[in-house]
Amino acid sequence: MSLINLLDRTPEELQALALGWDEPSYRGRQLAGWIYRKGVFDFGAMTDLPGRFRERLVRETTLALPAIARVAASADGSQKFELRLGDGRTVQAVLMPDEDRLTLCLSTQVGCGFACAFCYTGTMGLVRHLGAGEIVGQLLAARATLPSGSRITHLVFMGMGEPLANYAATVTALRTLTSPHGLGYSPRRITVSTVGLVQGIDRLAREGLKVNLAVSLHAATDEVRGRLMPINRGWGLDDLLAACRRFPLPVRQRMTFEYVLLDGVNDSPEEARRLARRLAGLRAKVNLIPFNPWTGSGFRRPPLERILAFQRVLLDAGVTATIRWSKGEDIGAACGQLRTAEQRARRQPVGAAAAS
Ligand code: SAH
Repeated sequence: MSLINLLDRTPEELQALALGWDEPSYRGRQLAGWIYRKGVFDFGAMTDLPGRFRERLVRETTLALPAIARVAASADGSQKFELRLGDGRTVQAVLMPDEDRLTLCLSTQVGCGFACAFCYTGTMGLVRHLGAGEIVGQLLAARATLPSGSRITHLVFMGMGEPLANYAATVTALRTLTSPHGLGYSPRRITVSTVGLVQGIDRLAREGLKVNLAVSLHAATDEVRGRLMPINRGWGLDDLLAACRRFPLPVRQRMTFEYVLLDGVNDSPEEARRLARRLAGLRAKVNLIPFNPWTGSGFRRPPLERILAFQRVLLDAGVTATIRWSKGEDIGAACGQLRTAEQRARRQPVGAAAAS
């Protein structure tokens, strides 16, 4: 019999599990409290649970946390965690301090199948989906390394993989992250970033989770977007923006559009004007991400004046636009730079990976 990984279950499902074992449902809440509030993963230490319940947990379940294989620290204070999963594969999570925030960037897949031309993770292809417990487990593993008094305040689903392509596990993880019996995060502190899966956006809208949505746009015409993002050949900009307009945004909240700036590709003032026109009438903010380079990508980051000029056009058109200077560039932890060493080693000698 294979063991149930309790991290794959929401706190509400743990209550159902207790009931199914002829225990009162509050035993499930107590169990969730040990795991998520107290960070205790040893059943023997869960002292307020009756012996027979603990024995059955030991026999039939496990709390399989990803193991920290490596931590790289950036000069800017961010940290990249390389996490080993049960089958030996690895994913990365990045912890980024910023004034009074501590944001953790989570992965949802090993690799990614969407092959955006500028993204290093995309060169891995999709290796596999993560389970809900492997998504939540990244937070539990990173949290366990923090000094006492320090707390992860914000979560972004912007690591390796496409969250809406691993839909069920992502939604289960979001429920555990936001449940008052789980990790108790306000949905406003969580952002899910998508390559632009129209059906996934519509489905997420119906879950009532109220998390923030970020959409990777990266171009204002189908011609340019289609060249950069193969997904655009199936769902064009009109379809995507229509789904964004349908998405039920909580009051006073705006949808984020990510826009990676690539020198000479999508960074002209004319492209900025087209982008502003496209976003008219949407409660939107644009997050400009100057391209984070990787060897062999074939793309360059635009010069600073061009980045600022692009932002200026948007601001003058009344579109809120910020520039995201990615953290952790020196440790290969910035947006689009994540790719696991284990995969790299298998395909190419280290340093020659981009040629693959
Ligand atoms: N699959 C999700 C999460 C991806 S990573 C999505 O597509 O949104 C988060 C952001 O980093 C995305 O907007 C992605 O397009 C962007 N990105 C990818 N490679 C990048 C790079 N080399 N430099 C800057 N941003 C990049």
